[in-house]
Amino acid sequence: MNCRRSPYIRAALAALAACLAWPGALAGGGAEQQREGGAAALPVRGLHTFPPAKKDLAGALEFIRQALAAEGANTLIMEFNYAYNYRSRPEFADASALGRDEVRQIADACREKGIALVPQINCLGHQSWGQRNGRLLQAHPEFDETPGKYPQNKGIYCRSYCPLHPEVHKVLFDLIDELAAACDAKAFHVGMDEVFILADADCPRCKGKGAAEVFAGEVRTLHQHLKERGLRMWMWGDRFIDGKATGIGQWEAAVNGTHPAVDQAPTDIVICDWHYGKAHDTAVFFAGKGFEVVSCPWRNGDVALAQLGRIRAIRAGADKAAAGRALGMVQTTWGGLAPFAAAYRAQAAGAAPTKDSASEAANCFRVLSKAWRDGQ
Ligand SMILES: [Zn+2]
Repeated sequence: MNCRRSPYIRAALAALAACLAWPGALAGGGAEQQREGGAAALPVRGLHTFPPAKKDLAGALEFIRQALAAEGANTLIMEFNYAYNYRSRPEFADASALGRDEVRQIADACREKGIALVPQINCLGHQSWGQRNGRLLQAHPEFDETPGKYPQNKGIYCRSYCPLHPEVHKVLFDLIDELAAACDAKAFHVGMDEVFILADADCPRCKGKGAAEVFAGEVRTLHQHLKERGLRMWMWGDRFIDGKATGIGQWEAAVNGTHPAVDQAPTDIVICDWHYGKAHDTAVFFAGKGFEVVSCPWRNGDVALAQLGRIRAIRAGADKAAAGRALGMVQTTWGGLAPFAAAYRAQAAGAAPTKDSASEAANCFRVLSKAWRDGQ
């Protein structure tokens, strides 16, 4: 499968690339033109990226104010995870990452242009990458769902935290609340994609429980907290899709028993339905279940246009309730904002796309945004 593992490998490479020089301020390329066209027809026209490095902040602000606005985008999901200088929990302080004042500048730029800034912290899964554990498990190894198992993370995709650990949400909620406040957010993305380690037989709290039960429980716990804070919950949709029945498989859908959780989750969650190799009839599945849904392409413009066509078909369909739930599209980039913006600028100036993630995502975004502006 073309997406297997590659998004996060690409992400790591892109994060590295984000440490390299940003070529400078945005200029020209039609960015000054406000072309709304048929854009208003889709309630969500979004982009998902990792945050810029400190040195790339000025360029990122300019990209938001010029290019994103000109492309008709109205949503920016920024996956911070632990790349933020947290103050509420000293063990997550990182002076090299963006802090409150810098993130406020991003929030201000977004607000000026009518773009909703949706911060993200990956919850449940994706707590390690390769041999390296993520910051949550580095600081709190006691939250590991499988402590002592899989030395050097060999033989697994990513670690998970134990959602039934009595302390884990106290920590997570402090971080979520702090990041949401810095972003002046009205919505928060909790990730929850590609969770493979769940309800482990050796976890004293989770053993014997079903994967769907545990997954749905964590969805409800996160949802309840966000709701109390007035934040709309967004999450990836793959664990809710039956990978066997649909034939979509174990990455963009689930074959590890989590999919029945779709009927145990609050429906006022916005589902980010990511599929990269082919457009599937999954947006209509989520809309039919009562969820608002956005379709998420990555590096293939034809897939993006096919997904957009399905979203528009739902919106124009006979099922009026479902029609209102097909919110739109979110372009994923699996990289930092700076390399994506650089690729976007190069293509806007006439350069052909190249075979790297940032360039392909930028090309896909330009194809998609033209279509959403033109009302295609
Ligand atoms: Zn557990």
